[in-house]
This record gives sequence, C-alpha cells and structure tokens, in this order.
Amino acid sequence: MKEKAVIIKELKALFGSKIVTEEDILKEQSSDWIGYRRWERHNGSYLAGLPTCVIKADSTEDVSEAIKYCYDNEIVVVPQCGRSCVCAGVETYEGTVVLDGSDMNGIVELDEENFMLTAKCGTPLEYIEKYLNERGYTSGHFPQSLPLAQLGGLVSTRSIGQLSTLYGGIEDLLHGMEAVLCDGSVIRIKNVPRRAAGPELNQLFMGSEGNFGFVTEATIKIFKHRADRAKQSYAVKDFETGIRAIKEIMQEGYKPAVVRLHDDVEAEMSYGSFIEESEHILLFVSEGPDSVIKATAEGIDAIMSKYESRSLGEKPVDLWYTIRNATCDDLYAHNKKGLLRDTCEISGNWSCIMPIYENALRRFKEEIENLTQISAHSSHSYMTGTNLYFVFSFKGDADLAKSRAQYDTAMRIIMEETLKYGGSICHHHGVGKYRTPYMPAEHGTSYPMMETLKKAFDPKNIMNTGAFLPR
Ligand SMILES: Cc1cc2nc3c(=O)[nH]c(=O)nc-3n(C[C@H](O)[C@H](O)[C@H](O)COP(=O)(O)OP(=O)(O)OC[C@H]3O[C@@H](n4cnc5c(N)ncnc54)[C@H](O)[C@@H]3O)c2cc1C
Repeated sequence: MKEKAVIIKELKALFGSKIVTEEDILKEQSSDWIGYRRWERHNGSYLAGLPTCVIKADSTEDVSEAIKYCYDNEIVVVPQCGRSCVCAGVETYEGTVVLDGSDMNGIVELDEENFMLTAKCGTPLEYIEKYLNERGYTSGHFPQSLPLAQLGGLVSTRSIGQLSTLYGGIEDLLHGMEAVLCDGSVIRIKNVPRRAAGPELNQLFMGSEGNFGFVTEATIKIFKHRADRAKQSYAVKDFETGIRAIKEIMQEGYKPAVVRLHDDVEAEMSYGSFIEESEHILLFVSEGPDSVIKATAEGIDAIMSKYESRSLGEKPVDLWYTIRNATCDDLYAHNKKGLLRDTCEISGNWSCIMPIYENALRRFKEEIENLTQISAHSSHSYMTGTNLYFVFSFKGDADLAKSRAQYDTAMRIIMEETLKYGGSICHHHGVGKYRTPYMPAEHGTSYPMMETLKKAFDPKNIMNTGAFLPR
C-alpha cells in the first residue's frame, strides 16, 4: 500500500481541487447518523477512523478515474451521496478514500411520454419532487429523510418512502441506471418496463450499498400528481387489533398510499389530544383517480368498523403531514436532552409480527437500564406481512463505552427476536457496517451467494468493504 502522502499527491495530480484533506471535513464525512456515533459526536469525544481524503467527483468520468486509481492501488472506496444513512454505511476507517457524488447533481431528462425521470446520483430527492410537482408529476418516493437523501444513496440502500403501499419502494420505481464498476468501467442498464432476458441487473445494485459499483445516474418512474386525497384515522384498543385490521385491508386488495399503526406510546406522544388513554392509532391516506380514492376509503371504513375502533377523522392525518419529516430538522435534538436515541426497522410475515413486537418490548424493559422509550409502529404493509419500526431511547452515559454497550444490547434484542420468529433484520435502512454480524443468520443457506456476488463484482475487495458484508 502506498503512503498516505503519496496517495494524496497522486490524486491531486489527477483531480486538483476536487481532493479535500481538511481535517474538519474528513471528520464530518467519517460517519453517518447511527445512534451511538450521534451520541459520541454530540459529546465531542470520538470519531470513526478518518479517511485519507474526500474526492468530490462531478462527472461519471471522475468517478471512473477515481475508482480505477483505487482499484490499481487497492484502496478501499467509501461511496457517499446525501450521507443520511443510519447504519454506519458511509463510515470510514483509516486508509479509505471517500468518493463523494453529491456534486453530481441535476435532472438529465424528463420523459413525459414514458413517465420516467433520469437524474444524476447527487440530485437531492427533495429537488426531484419539487421539479416533478411543478410539472404535474410526483416521484411517489417519500422517505422521512426526503430533505437529506440523494438519488444514488436511495438506490444503493434499497430505500422506501412513507407512501410505499401504493407507489412501492425504490425497487418498484427504479427503471434503469448507469454505474461505475470496481475497475473503473462504466455500465448502463437500459430503461424497459420489464424483461426476462436473464436476472434483473438493476436489482443487484439496490441494497448492495456501494459494494457492486458506484451509481452515477438513475432513471425512476413518475406518477401523476393529484391534489385530492382521502385522509382517515382510527383509535384501537391494542396493537394486535390494528395489525389484524391492516392485514385484512391489504389482503382484500386495497392499496392506500399511507398505512400506519402507531402503538400506544407513540400515539400518546404525537396524537395525545385525539386519543383516550392507552389507545393505539391508525392513519390512512388514499391517492389516485377520484373513483379509486372513494373505493379505497370506503373499503377501509367498512373493514375498520368490523374491529373495535373509533373513527378520529382527518385531523390526526393533517398533523402527521406537518410532523412526518421533523426529525431531519435537528438530528441531535434528543442528544441535547441527554438521550441516546435511535430507530431500528425489521419486517416479518403477519404470523410473526406480534411475537416480535411483544418480545422485543418485554426484553427492552428487562434489559435496558435507564430506558426512557421503547415503542414501535408499522408503516409499510404488504399482502403477506408488514414492517415494525422500533424507536428507543435511554439516558446516555458520560462513559461512552457504557453507552455503546447499551446501544449494542438494544439492537441485539431487536435482531435476535426478529430472527427467532423468522423475520428480516432490515426492512429499509440497509445493513451498513453495523448489522453485518447478523447477515449469516439472516440469509441462512443462501448467505454464500452474497459472498459469491461480492467476489464477482469486487475481486480486490475495495468497494465499501465492511458494509453489508463483514470486512
Ligand atoms: C431522519 C432520517 C429518516 C430516514 N428515513 C428513511 C425512510 O423513511 N426510508 C428509508 O429508506 N431510509 C430512511 N433513512 C435512511 C437514509 O435516508 C436512506 O438510507 C437513504 O437512501 C440514504 O441516501 P443518501 O443519499 O443519504 O445516501 P448515503 O447515506 O450517502 O449512502 C447510503 C449508502 O449507499 C452508499 N452509496 C451512497 N451513494 C452511492 C452511490 N452513488 N453509488 C453506490 N453506493 C452509494 C453508501 O456507501 C452507503 O452505504 C432515514 C435517515 C434519516 C437520518
């Protein structure tokens, strides 16, 4: 391995001012928003190992040249775009080089005939949505990180938005793409509605977190943007009733855009003025042509009336629209109150969701000291099952190692209970460099295929090594 000073000199010769070595920036770009790093950074005490430099690429040619240099010199590349990930996916370590695509920003083409939009990897999703709305369209993709995330990262993590029940996740939206592979070669996957010409290559990039290549451009489907929507909400007496109602709505074939069930803890925190003590709350939004909205809303109401529920009308949903992305305003808000807080999302079939929910909550109460919150909501549902998004916080300790150990226990409880009942350890945030130890148990006998793919796409092990598979 070349010396750091030599690497910087050679990269500066290739990229000039696009090479950044200022310590403040290296520190800033050395980690993402995973809970314990947030806590540590807030306390000014620890940072992940700093990268050698950041390469601010502004074209596919830059990306290609940068990756080729790293390939020839066996340097690990950490791809970054919006840096909003929350599982240490963009975390660096000594000897790595950050390849930052956030300057590759802009719409390449709006194809109104075929309902597609192509944009560069660093284009913020919020900009894409505004651009589309002004022209009568929507991306249908509304992750809570809408104000932070960029297209390349959204594709690479297999992201999902709050309106996914109607529009789907990024895997339903991505149509084609351009990427740079580990040796610097540029590939394009063409835009077609469907094909059976071998396995679907787009799928390999979604969820591979930069391990199979750097996504430089992506084409997504677009939808008609309509102002009208139906908003409904209901209080139910327990979480299981809410889960059973959602299951019936999904299995009857309704496709509301938003389907959310918040447990009593979250209902009390955000919707306390609408509910009675210990009630849980369901929120629904239906979108589409008027006749579809009407049929969906009537179907939801008919099913909810079969369960012990109270209609709460539109107001809780209006409130949700105002608070739904508020977390992005201040990612340190809870740290300022002395709390180490994070979220963790898993998925499971209908038959295993309740045991996962109940056992994880019970174990948090038994095993986490100074626990201030453990709650969950379901926010993405399918015919076959749903996700659970756990939210937890506990009083952080000045001893950072102790806080980190508590955090590890919290995550372990969720991973263990999920795996025990046959669910998946990750619904949408990705594996990052944090959940890798659970990957063999997650995939079982198919795990070796993951290693085979990694070897095939990245024989020198230089692409975000340590993310999604262990280092
Ligand atoms: C407050 C908050 C709310 C969130 N809500 C949601 C949500 O509702 N739904 C959801 O899915 N996620 C959510 N996330 C997680 C995060 O926003 C998503 O994972 C998002 O897709 C990351 O996009 P990004 O541009 O920030 O990527 P980054 O954080 O920069 O990178 C994410 C991963 O992709 C890799 N990568 C980045 N760019 C490229 C590229 N061009 N080519 C190849 N690999 C690349 C990185 O190495 C990393 O592994 C949330 C995060 C926060 C902080």
